[in-house]
Amino acid sequence: MQAKSLVSASILSATLLMASSPVVAEEDGFVQAAKTHAKEAQADWFETYAEEIQQLQQKEGYLGPELPIPQAQKVQEGVYTVVGSFIWGTRQNYGLNNNLTAVIFEDGVFVYNAGPNPAVAYSFHQQIKRLTDKPVKWLAVENNQGHAYLGSSYWWDVGVKNLYSQQQANENWHRDFAEDKARYAAARGKAITQPARDVTEHFTTFEQKKVIEVGGGETVELHNFGGGHTPSMTGAFVPSRNLLFTGDLGFNERLPGLLHGSNVLEWMASFERMVETVPSDVTVIPGHGTPTDIETLKARTYDYFADLVEKVQTVIDRGGDVHEAEKVDQSAYADRVVFEQLAKPNARSVYHTLKAQSGR
Ligand SMILES: [Zn+2]
Repeated sequence: MQAKSLVSASILSATLLMASSPVVAEEDGFVQAAKTHAKEAQADWFETYAEEIQQLQQKEGYLGPELPIPQAQKVQEGVYTVVGSFIWGTRQNYGLNNNLTAVIFEDGVFVYNAGPNPAVAYSFHQQIKRLTDKPVKWLAVENNQGHAYLGSSYWWDVGVKNLYSQQQANENWHRDFAEDKARYAAARGKAITQPARDVTEHFTTFEQKKVIEVGGGETVELHNFGGGHTPSMTGAFVPSRNLLFTGDLGFNERLPGLLHGSNVLEWMASFERMVETVPSDVTVIPGHGTPTDIETLKARTYDYFADLVEKVQTVIDRGGDVHEAEKVDQSAYADRVVFEQLAKPNARSVYHTLKAQSGR
């Protein structure tokens, strides 16, 4: 106590000196020393505070309020999905534009997709805690995109030790982490994205298929059905629940998007492999859009592409260029969400893929 009040007294006198003689203060050795001391003390305090916050954040995964993300929908007994926004990731939807799912098994909870940032991961975790006392034990991420991966450091920090991703996806995510994180932070919010770290070293990877035992004799099969949307992917099938996670091979309400690097023909082949792997009456949780059945999903993803490929091929066959390809009739899909944004780019992507294919 005594030492503390002595310090206070010296700071007070230094402050008084500075206040009473502002002109000569700069030349006064005592004031100079007191100022330096005050600056250093302040710097230490900030540094310690910042360090403590960082340590706490690392332990908790995220510090901040639970975000008002959509409420998880019950898909079937023990299966709950938060359906993300049908448009792209924005500040308003906190970057959550795909689906996050929890499946409650005897030994714990399996989570599919980490979320687009630690804040969304934390918010989904709070919902899970209100649904079950069982801990989250397994996490799989659908592909090498930010909305699948950026929340994974949160799950690792709160003690989820079994993280899964397809090998190439994990390598790609590690390679592009800094760039993707910066992009997500800029478009979806810095504060919610900033705590995300690259935890790819803690992931268990697989090439084509991996089976996880989840208790009670049940399993989750992880499948790389193939590329197309991204170079590789992690789908999941739970035989005991007849439940399929398509990752971004499957889009329901909104129009699927052919991104830079997407290949429509590969996507269709991967979709076919996926359909061959699962029963025809499977319950489907798509990458984007509400849970559905395989027939609906095929109509809204695969059949759309098949139609577009056919139309663009006709343009190519009669010697048309990319601008003509852009104009093929897609009016049958005009009611799909993000049609305006994606219809023409999709036609362009199909054109370039078909041209490259025929050049081989
Ligand atoms: Zn996606």
